Amino acid sequence: MGVKKIIKTVFMLEILKGMSLTFRALFRRPVTRQYPKHKREPFAGFRGLHALTRRPDGDAVCVGCGLCAAICPSQCIKIYTSEGADHKKVVDRYEIEVLRCLYCGLCVEACPFKAVVMTDIYEYSSFTRQELYMTKDKLLANWDRFSEKRKKTYFGSFWKPLFTDFSGSDKQAKLQDVSKAKKHEDIYLEAGK
Ligand code: SF4
Ligand code: SF4
Repeated sequence: MGVKKIIKTVFMLEILKGMSLTFRALFRRPVTRQYPKHKREPFAGFRGLHALTRRPDGDAVCVGCGLCAAICPSQCIKIYTSEGADHKKVVDRYEIEVLRCLYCGLCVEACPFKAVVMTDIYEYSSFTRQELYMTKDKLLANWDRFSEKRKKTYFGSFWKPLFTDFSGSDKQAKLQDVSKAKKHEDIYLEAGK
């Protein structure tokens, strides 16, 4: 055993070092926040309660394509659509069962229209399951609760769509004009000539 180690053991230097640290902590400003009196603003990109963004006319931006529901690993998104005027798809119901949600954010990333987003709302505890079942109206109301300032930070820093060019590549299969397409039998007969 070296001299240094003997001195450390005899004078219990490690214990004294630890005790001095504890003693100094008594005079430091406490770091504990007294919630809910003191609240901290969540960081940009915080994955809080979902919201459906609104179009300028007030309705939801969502077009009911179902990509978010398809990618959701917990399968907690339900979308019900119907055919409206001019054969347009109408989103009658858009629902998220937040008690099953993992807050992974995949639905937000999958949406090509920024129609579903995650807000910084984190205070939504409830005694009933029903209250935590987010309907389309509740999700739109969440968007209204999300402050303008936070919307800017949120979209400025996070949750941008992965791609902004949706034109597709030349190799990608495209929908054909059926009237101009050759029938399968014609192609088959031509190949046999
Ligand atoms: S955050 Fe994840 S788990 Fe929650 S609804 Fe979106 S995709 Fe589903
Ligand atoms: S929220 Fe986005 S991905 Fe989901 S159905 Fe609506 S438009 Fe499609």
